[in-house]
Amino acid sequence: MVVNSVQVIDGKPTELNFTLQPFVNEAAGRTSQTTTSSPSTSHLISPMTKASNITQIQAVPTTPPFLPPGHQPTHPKEFRHHNYADMELFLRKYNSGFSSITHLYSIGRSVQDRELYVMVISDNPNVHEHGEPEFKYVGNMHGNEVVGRELLLNLIEYLCRNYGTDPEVTQLVNNTRIHIMPSMNPDGYEVAVEGDVKGYKGRNNSNDYDLNRNFPDQFVTITEPRQPETIAVMSWLKSNPFVLSANLHGGSLVVNYPFDDDKDELSRYSRSPDDAVFKQVAKAYSQENPLMYKGHPCVDLYPEEYFKDGIINGAQWYTVPGRFLQRSSKALF
Ligand SMILES: [Zn+2]
Repeated sequence: MVVNSVQVIDGKPTELNFTLQPFVNEAAGRTSQTTTSSPSTSHLISPMTKASNITQIQAVPTTPPFLPPGHQPTHPKEFRHHNYADMELFLRKYNSGFSSITHLYSIGRSVQDRELYVMVISDNPNVHEHGEPEFKYVGNMHGNEVVGRELLLNLIEYLCRNYGTDPEVTQLVNNTRIHIMPSMNPDGYEVAVEGDVKGYKGRNNSNDYDLNRNFPDQFVTITEPRQPETIAVMSWLKSNPFVLSANLHGGSLVVNYPFDDDKDELSRYSRSPDDAVFKQVAKAYSQENPLMYKGHPCVDLYPEEYFKDGIINGAQWYTVPGRFLQRSSKALF
């Protein structure tokens, strides 16, 4: 049986008994491998386990054989606001400057006809490679929550500039396909007011709907008309086999993991089938941010807030039907 060009074999599943390898410096004389036959689950695991179905090998030149001791990745130097025109310029610049690992596309248009851009970063950015997980980031779905947008632009810069020299970045880019949408609500961004920390101007789209209450819900029927931005994202999710996602908001300092809704609409823990994985991923993210991990609040907005380990189940925090969280493929925080 073949489903979406992935070969599915009936019968007993094959068990892989593997051990995770220590991190390998792929920048050192790496070769890129493209597989075209049956899906391999080994792509992220170890170079030793992915030998059988290589049909094409391309050398990736210009990387030093060994990194100097104390190598540090290059960090973005600029952290500033990018309006729609600036963001478009930024994306085009990185797409043309790093054309071998980037692919810029649009999933549709906003109410006011702005493109909903996505930058893909991967070693073969134009195609899904068998066994290579597809990851997506979405920022700025609330147009006035602007930090996520800038963080994602910084992430594009960081991945592009450190590919081939930094082992961690090179490993990520070679072995995952990372889709980055800096802004799901570019119309809202344009009317939001710089310096307005507590206001709501620009939060909604230009039809004045909250995009984070506009997705289908598993328990409640959402009656508000589905917005062009929401429709575009829903069809994007259907056309890509995303396995993990993150959606960046502004406000509380926390990683929020599924589910976001509860069948009785109560604020209580709403467990998804992948609960243990979500908790682990949420904690892995939180641990990289000491303030978040210690449960430190966003002092300006919610000084009393405390989240143990900087994570929380969405519905336990507060339940709102139609949020993006439970609708975004397997995972989202
Ligand atoms: Zn938000």
